[in-house]
Amino acid sequence: MSEFTATPASDEALTRACSILKDGGLVAFPTETVYGLGADATNSNAVAGIFKAKGRPDYNPLICHVPDLAAAEKLGIFDDKARKYAAAFWPGALTLVVKKQPDCPVASEVSAGLETIAIRVPDHRLAQSLLRMVQRPLAAPSANRSGAVSPTKAEHVIESLGQKVNLVLDGGACEVGLESTVLAVDDSPAVLLRPGGITLSMLRDIDPGIQVAKAEQPKLLKSPGMLESHYAPGLPVRMDIDTPSPDEAWLAFGPDAKTDGVKAINLSPSGNLEEAASNLFSYLREMDRSEFSAIAVAPIPEEGIGRAINDRLKRASAPGSTPLTG
Ligand code: AMP
Ligand code: MG
Repeated sequence: MSEFTATPASDEALTRACSILKDGGLVAFPTETVYGLGADATNSNAVAGIFKAKGRPDYNPLICHVPDLAAAEKLGIFDDKARKYAAAFWPGALTLVVKKQPDCPVASEVSAGLETIAIRVPDHRLAQSLLRMVQRPLAAPSANRSGAVSPTKAEHVIESLGQKVNLVLDGGACEVGLESTVLAVDDSPAVLLRPGGITLSMLRDIDPGIQVAKAEQPKLLKSPGMLESHYAPGLPVRMDIDTPSPDEAWLAFGPDAKTDGVKAINLSPSGNLEEAASNLFSYLREMDRSEFSAIAVAPIPEEGIGRAINDRLKRASAPGSTPLTG
C-alpha cells in the first residue's frame, strides 16, 4: 500500500477537496492559525466523522469557518458589538461565540447542543478559496488527535491522523501557529474564553470591559473544552526553566539564552513573541523524543501573544495531561 501523503495545493486539489466535503468526507486544510480538520457543518454524519477521527469528546463544540461576515450572519446573531469585532479582526485569528440564528443550518452536534455557535473567518488564501468554492460552512477543529499538540504543517496532520482524513491540502507552515482567540459575545460583558493571536489588549481597544474566563469562576466558563488538559506532547512539559537538567530538551527564548552543552532550540533568538508562537508547536513536536526525560521551556513574557503561549504551555504541563500523539 502506498504511504498516505499531503496533496500540494492546486486548482485541481481544491476541486477534489470540494467534492469530498460535499460528499460528507474530511479534508484537512491550512489556515493562518493551525491546520483544520474540515467537514460540511450542515451534515451531521460528516460532523460525526470529525469527532471520531480526532477522538474528541462530543461535549466539546467545534468552530464553524465561513468566508465572510455575510455568511457568518446566516448562522449566528450579530449585534452591533459583535459586528464591531468582526469588522476589526476578520478575516483573522478571532473566533466569535454568538447566539445561533433560529434557522441556522448547522448540525446541532457542531455546537454540542448549545444555543450558541462559534464562528471564524480565516485569513488564508487556500482556506478562503475552499470556503468560497464549497459554499457551505465548514466545521474545522485542529487536525490532530484530541488533547495532542495542534498541527502547523501538513506533515503534522499526516503524523497525527494519517488515513483518517480523505485529503490533506498542503499549504506550507501556518503563520500564526497558535489556535484562534475565542471571544464569547452572546452576552454582556464579552468573555475571553481562549487567548490567541488576537491579544487581549487588541480586544480591549474595542471594549475595555471584556472579562477573562477562569476555571475558578464557573459563571464565566462558557467553553466546555476549556477545562481539559490539551496541547500536550508525549513528554512531561516544565515551564519557566532557565537551567534545564542534562537529560531534558530545552525550548529557549531570547538573545540571552545560554544553550552551550544543552540539547536546545531557541523559540526566537531575537526575543520576538510572534516568532516564538509560530515555532512553538513545531518545536514541541521536534523535542518530543524518548531520549529526553522532559521538555523544559524558558520563561515566556506574559504580554501580547505571550499570554496565549503561556496558556498552551500551562495546559501542556498540567498534571493529567494525556500524551495522545499518534
Ligand atoms: P478547537 O476547534 O480545537 O480549536 O477548539 C475550539 C474551541 O472553541 C474549544 O475550546 C471549544 O470549547 C470552543 N467553542 C466552540 N464552540 C463554542 C461555543 N458555542 N461556546 C463556547 N465555546 C465554544
Ligand atoms: Mg484543538
